[in-house]
Amino acid sequence: MSRNDQLFERALRTIPGGVNSPVRAFKSVGGTPRFVVRAEGPYFWDADGRRYIDYIGSWGPMIVGHAHPAVVRAVQEAAARGLSFGAPTEAEVAMAETIVRLMPSIEQLRLVSSGTEAAMSALRLARGATGRRKIVKFEGCYHGHADGLLVKAGSGALTFGHPSSAGVPAEITQHTLALDYNDAQQLEDAFRRHGDDIACVIVEPVAGNMNLVRATDEFLRTMRRLCTQHGALLIFDEVMTGFRVAAGGAQSLYGIEPDLTVLGKVIGGGLPVAAFGGRREVMKHLAPLGPVYQAGTLSGNPVAVACGLATLELIQAPGFYDRLAAQTRRLIDGLMAAARQVPGIDFCADAVGGMFGIYFARQVPTNYAQVLATDKARFNAFFHAMLARGVYLAPSAYEAGFVSAAHDDAAIEATLAAAAESFGAIARP
Ligand SMILES: *Cc1c(COP(=O)(O)O)cnc(C)c1O
Repeated sequence: MSRNDQLFERALRTIPGGVNSPVRAFKSVGGTPRFVVRAEGPYFWDADGRRYIDYIGSWGPMIVGHAHPAVVRAVQEAAARGLSFGAPTEAEVAMAETIVRLMPSIEQLRLVSSGTEAAMSALRLARGATGRRKIVKFEGCYHGHADGLLVKAGSGALTFGHPSSAGVPAEITQHTLALDYNDAQQLEDAFRRHGDDIACVIVEPVAGNMNLVRATDEFLRTMRRLCTQHGALLIFDEVMTGFRVAAGGAQSLYGIEPDLTVLGKVIGGGLPVAAFGGRREVMKHLAPLGPVYQAGTLSGNPVAVACGLATLELIQAPGFYDRLAAQTRRLIDGLMAAARQVPGIDFCADAVGGMFGIYFARQVPTNYAQVLATDKARFNAFFHAMLARGVYLAPSAYEAGFVSAAHDDAAIEATLAAAAESFGAIARP
């Protein structure tokens, strides 16, 4: 039995499903998860000593590559000065200043420890600031696992949602409306019907939790206009896209200013830092200034903030995002070219900055239903073919992929060579 298998068996005894976050369990693709021993640059090594080219990057944060020396040094130095104080530090101020400078829609922000916490707090703030109850989200977008967000659409598009998880009473999701992504008309209808009571619309401006799905310009512009007209707040959840698709996040690519932005992943560089922020006028409702309560023992933790700051320092190097986007583009163009060599495989891919999606389908999907209609069996076969050849893709057809600045030409070329073999392997009956 391999060491991975042994560890998984052992994990299953004391950890539900053997993992501390569900998608790690390989339930969607089948097989045994790899237990990681160490990682460096674009690679990690598993418990059996096998090396993989990593396209998860901890689901986004590791944008400068694993164990970057400057980041590791910053963490070590911060740790030596003390692990946590529960009192303010200068590094938190520097972090806030850096984010405010890089994302002009944010005037003030608060640091928290996870994207879930940041999104949950942003929604409370939006409700507190507007005095309204209802929130609008979109099918296939993920904003963490706060109760009110675990919703699937009701029977009609404009009926309020049902809980998508056990343990969430219907009363808690009755104010959450789940609409179709990229459907501007549904949004118009929702505001016509409920406009007076909508506190906010929350959206991933490039969706990265139903594989990768771009928002259309029209969809986001309609959203911005309707929110402004009806006095609702527009929340961009950029936990994944922030400092991933561009230095200024997806909002800089679309040229749209949300009222609130939710951040996480890259801003922690691999340690737990997330944030929500926006216009001063909205942020002033937050305790201790205002009546909306929010707090955290480890918020702005000095070691985590040092890690995030060191990462944000590196991504500001001139040309960082041009190179990252070019490598990502090279990867997906190469994958599509490899797939075309093999008859009978419907495959396409898309990328925004350092984030990509691969789809076993004729066309790049534009909403959740289309993502669900892609060929999952083909994806799973491809995933395992790649894994066997030392390439670690997200273990689900419904997740995006991530390239880091450490993915050099050698890593991309090795990936494309593995892909050429893998497409051939899965084409055979
Ligand atoms: C990952 C993610 C979250 C949740 O962040 P956690 O740190 O895992 O709680 C929220 N929103 C989006 C868009 C994400 O990608």
